[in-house]
Amino acid sequence: MKIEVDRGKCVGLGLCEAASPDHFEVGDDGQLVLVSDMVTYGQRAEVEEAIRSCPTAALRLLP
Ligand code: SF4
Repeated sequence: MKIEVDRGKCVGLGLCEAASPDHFEVGDDGQLVLVSDMVTYGQRAEVEEAIRSCPTAALRLLP
């Protein structure tokens, strides 16, 4: 599975980083960096939590 970010919706709040720091990092400039966009089955729960925590619904998980 793969993470997709809608950059037009992301406002750099970093809630996704708190839920899944292996995948998301917000830089000092407020830009989201995808540390890794690939999601293993073992990582799926934390990435889904990150997606749920995003207040602007900027994240989705692709098969
Ligand atoms: S939680 Fe959503 S808006 Fe905030 S940095 Fe992550 S993707 Fe962007």
